[in-house]
Amino acid sequence: MEDATAAQLAPFLARYGLVVQLSNSKGRCLIASRAFKQGAEVLAQEPYVAVLDGNSQHKRCDRCFSLSSNLKRCSACKSVFYCCILCQKKEWLLHKYECQATVKLFKEKQRNLTSSLRLMLRLLIKRRLQAEGFVPKTPSDCYETCKELPTHMANTGEERLVLYAQMANLVQMMVDSNDVKIKEVTKDFCRFACNAHTICDEEMRPLGTGLYPVISIINHSCSPNAVLHFDGKHAVVRALENINKGTEVTISYVELAASTHVRCLALKDQYYFDCDCVRCSASETQNGSREDAFVEGYRCINPSCEGPLMLDPGDSKKLICDLCGLNRNEADLTPLALEAEKSVLEASAMYTSGNIKGAMEAYGKAKSIQQTVCHPLSVNLMRTNDNLVKIHMDMQDWTAALEHCRQTIPSYKRAYSSFSPLLGLQFYTLGKLAWLKGNTAEAIGALKSALHILQVTHGPGSPLVQSLSSTLNEALAEAAHLHIHVAE
Ligand SMILES: [Zn+2]
Ligand SMILES: [Zn+2]
Ligand SMILES: [Zn+2]
Ligand SMILES: [Zn+2]
Repeated sequence: MEDATAAQLAPFLARYGLVVQLSNSKGRCLIASRAFKQGAEVLAQEPYVAVLDGNSQHKRCDRCFSLSSNLKRCSACKSVFYCCILCQKKEWLLHKYECQATVKLFKEKQRNLTSSLRLMLRLLIKRRLQAEGFVPKTPSDCYETCKELPTHMANTGEERLVLYAQMANLVQMMVDSNDVKIKEVTKDFCRFACNAHTICDEEMRPLGTGLYPVISIINHSCSPNAVLHFDGKHAVVRALENINKGTEVTISYVELAASTHVRCLALKDQYYFDCDCVRCSASETQNGSREDAFVEGYRCINPSCEGPLMLDPGDSKKLICDLCGLNRNEADLTPLALEAEKSVLEASAMYTSGNIKGAMEAYGKAKSIQQTVCHPLSVNLMRTNDNLVKIHMDMQDWTAALEHCRQTIPSYKRAYSSFSPLLGLQFYTLGKLAWLKGNTAEAIGALKSALHILQVTHGPGSPLVQSLSSTLNEALAEAAHLHIHVAE
């Protein structure tokens, strides 16, 4: 980081109790300069630029990202929507240029305006307006800070670079400006690829993409001490555990319910680094590889044994149960695993095309194969169960949804850390389903577990946590009224 930008950013970070330190292996690191309690806000930031994805564009306000059933469309480009006149007016300063560019593109009969193109367009417009003084600029909200983010251009494949250059050309054509330098825009596309964040709703479903140049300084860990949460497009980093002064703040860049091998591949592929976090380092120990075998491995040949299958040190074609020592041939397992994978793909395609019943059957088939092949706590089985929960909820079959949901909890606990937002949300789903089915005691147990986690990850003020609390209070009132015993 250039000294000038670092110095300018320092007061912004100091307000939170953070400093940037340089590390030889990881580049910039965000370090706590004071202690943070579990659940505390560590850092918050508005995006430099953000866009809604295609699915959310018609459901949410383009400025504040809030959901609305009464959106007003921009009458000129007909491609963005606002929740109110105020949002539209405030956004117009920037949208005016985007609107012109979009209309120009549509006239050229090009309609495939992807999220990254729209994000780039917004970046160029904002950058220019800030440079000309029409839009205020602060150290945490300026192009110069975005420019400090790594591009990893040297690691980016030739094919991808060509694609980015073509996209840069298209953007140049749209804004019709000679200030747009193809090479610079190509670099910014590389920056987006490894720095932009997926913006999620409270239930962790993706809704858009944003560039948060200060939050992007935070490095990855597969065992992170903080989590990124969004309120609309406002990003908040919260402490998952007590963070001591002098400790590096970390979040996770990838799906954590995966073996070390899968996580590392994902990190290398998108972010170009080898993870040396505590979890990855532990995978080289016996305990660590056992953990990977639970998460992504096969099950013991004895159906009543829950030991994970490890590689047999004596015979590379055989797997050996870590608990009872029985062997299983890998060659017998692979075709079954492939068949399950095929069913999952078919099911997913059917679900997308609206064939819900077909999808339910195909996931059911995948599940029965996975139950004979995969470890009961494996993520593959967990995802199939998750899909079955979703489908049965679509069909309002709460009994079946509850049954599948119950089965996911042990694997969620194994795959995620105890304060993972995804584990909290899964408990919340379980609690709501149990409540719908009138299982008051089960509902209370699950809702309490959900609250315990989501208060930390989402903050006590989040609308999701508030509606969770009121469901829990209702359930508790009913339990008291009916004299149902609730475990503490
Ligand atoms: Zn709005
Ligand atoms: Zn417009
Ligand atoms: Zn790691
Ligand atoms: Zn066994």
